[in-house]
Amino acid sequence: MSKNDLTRPSNFIKEIISEDLKTNRYDGKVHTRFPPEPNGYLHIGHAKAICINFVIAEEYNGPCNLRFDDTNPMKEEQEYIDSIKEDIRWLGFDWEDREYYASDYFEKLYEYAIKLIKKGKAYVCDLSADEIRETRGTLTKPGRNSPYRNRSVEENLDLFERMRAGEFPDGSRTLRAKIDMSSGNINMRDPVMYRILRATHPRTGDKWCIYPTYDFTHGQSDSIEGITHSLCSIEFEDHRPLYDWFLDELEIHHPRQIEFARLYLNYTILRKRKLIKLVEGGSVNGWDDPRMLTLSGLRRRGYTPESIRDFCERIGVAKSESVVDIAFLEHCLRDDLNKRAQRYLAVLHPLRVVIENYPEDKVEELDAINNPEDLSMGTRKIPFSRVIYIEQDDFREEPPKKFYRLAPGREVRLRYAYFIKCVDVIKDEKGNVVELRCTYDPKTRGGDAPDGRKPKTTLHWVTIDHSIRAEVRLYDRLFTKVNPDDVEEGKDFTSNINPNSLEIITPCYVEPTLKDAEPGDRFQFERLGYFCVDPDSTNLKLVFNRTVPLKDTWAKIEKAQRKELE
Ligand code: ATP
Ligand code: MG
Repeated sequence: MSKNDLTRPSNFIKEIISEDLKTNRYDGKVHTRFPPEPNGYLHIGHAKAICINFVIAEEYNGPCNLRFDDTNPMKEEQEYIDSIKEDIRWLGFDWEDREYYASDYFEKLYEYAIKLIKKGKAYVCDLSADEIRETRGTLTKPGRNSPYRNRSVEENLDLFERMRAGEFPDGSRTLRAKIDMSSGNINMRDPVMYRILRATHPRTGDKWCIYPTYDFTHGQSDSIEGITHSLCSIEFEDHRPLYDWFLDELEIHHPRQIEFARLYLNYTILRKRKLIKLVEGGSVNGWDDPRMLTLSGLRRRGYTPESIRDFCERIGVAKSESVVDIAFLEHCLRDDLNKRAQRYLAVLHPLRVVIENYPEDKVEELDAINNPEDLSMGTRKIPFSRVIYIEQDDFREEPPKKFYRLAPGREVRLRYAYFIKCVDVIKDEKGNVVELRCTYDPKTRGGDAPDGRKPKTTLHWVTIDHSIRAEVRLYDRLFTKVNPDDVEEGKDFTSNINPNSLEIITPCYVEPTLKDAEPGDRFQFERLGYFCVDPDSTNLKLVFNRTVPLKDTWAKIEKAQRKELE
């Protein structure tokens, strides 16, 4: 059986599968698939479904297919297919040669439709889309039979073939399943199986002018591929009776469908059609905007695939819906980056400091630790000289209580360097502090004083002569409300967009060791957060995205929760 069964936590899906293996349903095989519709880029919700399908297959030593459910040529594009493949590979999953398309089954699905017509289980209907909607009834009211419901098998076969041959205009006829217009489940009220639509399909071109609906395609595609367990999100629960009906009437291989809760995150929108609106409306700079919770956006922001997989594993798999705190996603990311990200010094809001008793032309090389969490990552040399930048925030002329950083007359430690003491403050005509004059204690090289005195704070810094100018982009939540769909009447989620979600700071200064950094490289800037190099970087200018600040709000939430329990 499974390789990792003992080490990974169980969940209700695995319990069902294990049970099926015991009873030898599906000859002891497990075969799953991830079935995206190529009508947008993948988001973090899809990552959950991808992890469930690929990880479960792996644990039971079975394959997982990638299948594009490409039944809607109006909204689907090759760009989306390419991005979906890139994102799944980036997450670390491999579908090998099992890349399938529902459109490859169009001929087979057509045969299935003929089979149902011949069994008297499907009919051609001349009602318009509006009329079908009107006669479908409601949750409390049964639907009404279509006047075309009792067409003969011969007439249906003839009309359906002519639909395919292009004899009728778009939308003029449909093929419908003949089930039950008074069923308590609206999906069973003679659902549409085929519609007439003259649209060029990204893969089948103009070969077809009738297209199967998603509902008539999805279950049969799983069946054709020999899928044993169709794992899908909860909104398909109400469709399951219909999928069962099709498979039973067609008398073909019948996968077991199991539904799990969709992922929701606070302050976040996870629906492709809404994400498209953000992209097309220009609220963000494309699908991979680092503020988007698309996989390409998270990647550009600096998320690691490992942290996303870890997140998906730790939120678990359940049937009941809940909203996950975005702080938990960030917590998983910090866990990963803390172990792996090399530390560097960078100053975002520079304040010039002249160390008066340090020789004018001297440059020293100081040893800096690359990652205190992992000493095997070694050390590096960083230059130190007379004029440096520190962070504006790290100085106050009149320090309030509990402000332990630099102030007139006060001594602080410079990371990996010396203790400095502020002896004078230089201001411009408007009274803004533009420079500090300090002295250093040569005996404190490396950060310790022989007399044992210990400054309360250690500041990060870079030298003015050696540092590299850079642009830094800071991101905040894209939406101001916990639930972005919470809007006044007549408005939509875009009215909750945070106008301050992007802050560009330039120039910033980073230590010279970063000069060869490449787009995608990730590191920690000490005391500031985790950053990565944005692809907008050029030879002339490095651009950094702040992936996430250091402060871990999730750890705080957990601590508070623990306190409450005590
Ligand atoms: P969207 O609403 O964003 O368009 P979708 O469900 O229509 O999503 P598909 O391309 O059909 O998008 O999704 C492929 C698979 O991913 C489906 O099996 C779906 O159940 C799953 N999925 C989509 N969104 C989520 C989510 N938020 N949480 C868990 N699974 C999801
Ligand atoms: Mg869908």
